[in-house]
Amino acid sequence: MPNRRFADGEVVMGRWPGSVLYYEVQVTSYDDLTHLYTVKYKDGTELELKESDIRSVSSFKHRKSNSSSSSPSRRSGSRSRSRSPGRSAKGKRRSSSQGRESKDDKKKTVRETNLTLLKLSENNTSRYNGEPDSTEKNDTSYKILQQKVESKLEFGHRRDQYDLHPRREKKKEEIFLEERVFEPAKTTEKGSIQTKELEFGGRIGAFFMIVFLPATVFYLLLICKQEDPSVMNFPPLPAVGSLWETRMFGVFLLWFFLQALFSLLPVGKVVEGMPLVSGRILEYRINGFYAFVLTAAAVGTSLYCEIELHYLYDHFLQFAVSAAIFSVLLSIYLYVRSLKAPKEELSPGGNSGNFVYDFFVGRELNPRIGNFDLKYFCELRPGLIGWVVVNFMMLLAEMKVRHNNVPSLSMILVTSFQLLYVVDALWNEEAILTTMDITHNGFGFMLAFGDLVWVPFIYSLQAYYLVNHPSEISWPTASAIIMLNMFGYYIFRSANSQKNAFRRNPKDPKLAHLKCIPTAAGKSLLVTGWWGMVRHPNYLGDIIMALAWSLPCGVNHILPYFYVIYFTCLLIHRDARDEHQCKKKYGLAWERYCQRVPYRIFPYIY
Ligand code: NDP
Repeated sequence: MPNRRFADGEVVMGRWPGSVLYYEVQVTSYDDLTHLYTVKYKDGTELELKESDIRSVSSFKHRKSNSSSSSPSRRSGSRSRSRSPGRSAKGKRRSSSQGRESKDDKKKTVRETNLTLLKLSENNTSRYNGEPDSTEKNDTSYKILQQKVESKLEFGHRRDQYDLHPRREKKKEEIFLEERVFEPAKTTEKGSIQTKELEFGGRIGAFFMIVFLPATVFYLLLICKQEDPSVMNFPPLPAVGSLWETRMFGVFLLWFFLQALFSLLPVGKVVEGMPLVSGRILEYRINGFYAFVLTAAAVGTSLYCEIELHYLYDHFLQFAVSAAIFSVLLSIYLYVRSLKAPKEELSPGGNSGNFVYDFFVGRELNPRIGNFDLKYFCELRPGLIGWVVVNFMMLLAEMKVRHNNVPSLSMILVTSFQLLYVVDALWNEEAILTTMDITHNGFGFMLAFGDLVWVPFIYSLQAYYLVNHPSEISWPTASAIIMLNMFGYYIFRSANSQKNAFRRNPKDPKLAHLKCIPTAAGKSLLVTGWWGMVRHPNYLGDIIMALAWSLPCGVNHILPYFYVIYFTCLLIHRDARDEHQCKKKYGLAWERYCQRVPYRIFPYIY
């Protein structure tokens, strides 16, 4: 039995991180490994607190409060609600919004923030971790504003809060408890937090995806090679034996390990990732662009040596099968090794205890072999650089098939746009460290298959399509498509860079003109600039670019539009996942951000 002072379900006083104020909370669980209590505030916010930040209720003077404030996040509302005994007794005379909050609260699960993270902001005396209305700030005046806000709040609300200083003049009075049902967080037998909310349609959805994703890849590749690439023109299934080619598997292995070798080269700076829940900070070597240059040199050398790259085009399906088999083997390895991973290194979303679901989503957040980070490597190198190489191969194949010395204008547009996208990702490699895939998603089949198969073999579908289905476009049309792509790129890049710079250094002078709101988790949310236009401006830019990549293929078939259709669905779903996570992380601050920025991706539409 762990040596813990407070039991699950016990109502205690929990210190609000970054302040000296204590609020009534209920203990929902205790982690034996980290020695942290998960506690729930009355507004539904859940945090992990150290034992030293928890006091028994009896150690506080009881007094009557004039406000209903139950955590600093509540303090934002200047609604000072009278707490008459009658009201308290009935309990049901709460406002409808409060009722809604209560319902929402029940659904909330244990948030991922803990004091290790919050400690960072504690050191920063200018930061206040509550969410008052007036705390929207811009960075230049941040310190002064925060201090003003803090002192104002401390003065204005000290009456409403419990603190540790004895108040002799006050009478012992009852604390009025809101009627609220607490839902204890489920824990595994070793005390780690278990994934309760399953995404992607749960186990059945995950199982379906494991089968459906590879099937979709083969179906689309088979259609694309047909003379009539209509999606309803089902291709004849190839013999199973013809799908395997040992040589192609060897080529894939060579490719994967060559990229791994490039990533291990001691060139490029080493940067720190975002702090993990355990407080650990991992380091990453930023050398993706060098790997790209070396790859380009290797491809150039093979052309010079007259190695038939066209061979890959002729055996494209077998190549995809090899990549798929490798990704399954990798996923099995990842799952098995995750069973031995320390509990605090598991991803918050991939630890449900169900094999199929966890295998799909990925249990371990940052699986590493020594300093070699498997997820980080797969996210950018073999798949993304592979996509560009496949495109280049298609460009050569088109010239050969059509007996031309130069590629078509459509092919040039598609491959150049996608080259720009990949080079941009590698050039701004550091920005990936603040994305969901790195900070939240575990590494399992979903990302392994996505990175190694889906990206290089499906994202190159337009180029593959153009090899056998020429599309003539005029220069004015091409110019309009180029402008559309650049417009999308501008939004995509500016939005991602803005958020990345802000997350890395919220006081970056370049961001001084932007306003943001603080959150209880210590981080702030931008509410002006790109992130004040819609809640995912980067997705908007990405979708515009996706459309520009399909348009050069003409409008005869829907197949080249598969990417933009699928990608829009993916990003809408991803947005919903991210919103859900952010709501858990930031609580009321996120709701206020949503009020302030009502559209998710498309301004005035969605
Ligand atoms: P984002 O880069 O959009 O990151 C979302 C996170 O940003 C949130 O979880 C939150 O994290 C933070 N955030 C949200 N709102 C704000 C705000 N107002 N102020 C400051 N921070 C905020 O997530 P993705 O990983 O989904 O996307 C990264 C890029 O990758 C996008 O451009 C996307 O289009 C692209 N992408 C491309 C794919 C492809 O296949 N081509 C697939 C998926 C994505 P926190 O607060 O914890 O920092």
